[in-house]
Amino acid sequence: MLTVSEALEKIISEVCIFAPREVDLKDALGSTLAENVVSDLNNPPFNKALMDGYAIRAEDITEGFARLKVIEEVAAGSVPSHPVQKGEATRIMTGAPLPEGADLVVPFEESTYDESTGQESAEQEIAGTVELKASKRTAGSNMMPEATVLKKGDAVLEAGTVLQFQELGSLAEIGKAKLKVYPPPEISVLATGDELVEVSVQPKAGQIRNSNETMLAAQIENAGAVANRLGIAGDVQEEIEAKIIQGLQSDILLLSGGVSAGKLDLVPAALKKCGVREVFHKVKLKPGKPIWFGVYQKDIKNGQKENKQGQKKNKKEEIKTCYVFGLPGNPVGSMICFELFVKTAIQSLMGITPPVPQTVQAKLENEYAKRGDRELYHPCSLKNESGMNSVSLIRWQGSADLQSTVKANAMAVFPAGDRIYHPGDLVDVMVWHE
Ligand code: AMP
Ligand code: MG
Repeated sequence: MLTVSEALEKIISEVCIFAPREVDLKDALGSTLAENVVSDLNNPPFNKALMDGYAIRAEDITEGFARLKVIEEVAAGSVPSHPVQKGEATRIMTGAPLPEGADLVVPFEESTYDESTGQESAEQEIAGTVELKASKRTAGSNMMPEATVLKKGDAVLEAGTVLQFQELGSLAEIGKAKLKVYPPPEISVLATGDELVEVSVQPKAGQIRNSNETMLAAQIENAGAVANRLGIAGDVQEEIEAKIIQGLQSDILLLSGGVSAGKLDLVPAALKKCGVREVFHKVKLKPGKPIWFGVYQKDIKNGQKENKQGQKKNKKEEIKTCYVFGLPGNPVGSMICFELFVKTAIQSLMGITPPVPQTVQAKLENEYAKRGDRELYHPCSLKNESGMNSVSLIRWQGSADLQSTVKANAMAVFPAGDRIYHPGDLVDVMVWHE
């Protein structure tokens, strides 16, 4: 039986990164950038006013006061037609380019325009005077010099960045209307088990609600992927196979239940029948030992398909790959296997590095007797006080006890083997919520 790290290595070596796809910027949220991006312009592209006011020369303010001739008005979107000479000011709006010669903006709040002196010429220019009281204003005030944020050719984002709203805004600024990304994978979820009923149904004797589908779909979305729910298949091999065939259209297929050693654990046989190659079955892990992982590849190169008119057309050359996980039915086993293994596969597909789950170290608060040859994941509460991580284990009844995990924000990781842990011992902790 594989250890957890051996199983992770197998997944990483089997899962191939998606081929990069060119998408419109508006469709790129949640994808991973597949190219390095540089700026196509200086940002700001000109010396830019950051306030509405008067663009002037700093040397004109003596003892916090200036009386200047207003030579024109520039709004955002237009350009000044005159440089500002000594003794002159240009009325300017936020976002407009500063005229040559001006090196600061005095806000309107610190100005008094003398209307009696103003007269607008045919070119809409102004020839009034303005008095400025700007005691603390020096060169550079309320303006941003050209290229302060970015120079043309500067690196903006690196390949491997997951695109969130701020990255999309930044890419819009530099005109990246189309970009190469690894899109989020689509993941199908199939729950198996004769005992399962929908969440909205009152279970009859012997039945339980299908909680794994809801939980796994949420974990999928939380990991930045797209969930496709296939519902419930009973413990009948043909029924499971029919749903598997549907699920193999996705990038990843998750099955829950039916992977242990029971008489009705039909999932491994059904997957084999559908042409999925087994990579491993069972891992030295608690909870989550029964996990099954395999790869389905269909070479549809040179294939032909008929269109509605009966004409044969060559299909695009491609190999369809679907990575398949048979997750344990027990909810906490399913949950842990997702966070450890499925998330690793998602991150490998999307080019996120490192793809392996991250842990932090924390001081244990409890006494704990760890037994057995499997790596153990135990629900816990992780705190950080004055820079020190501490962790306390939560009372837990094992893999069927989902309710205890609600009180947890992390999973303490205990390596395989027997050992008595004491308060103060350092343990690894997998953080649930980032
Ligand atoms: P299995 O792996 O099919 O042997 O199931 C192990 C345990 O998990 C059994 O108690 C099942 O009833 C339970 N179980 C299986 N599937 C689900 C599910 N979708 N939601 C909640 N519990 C489940
Ligand atoms: Mg079952």
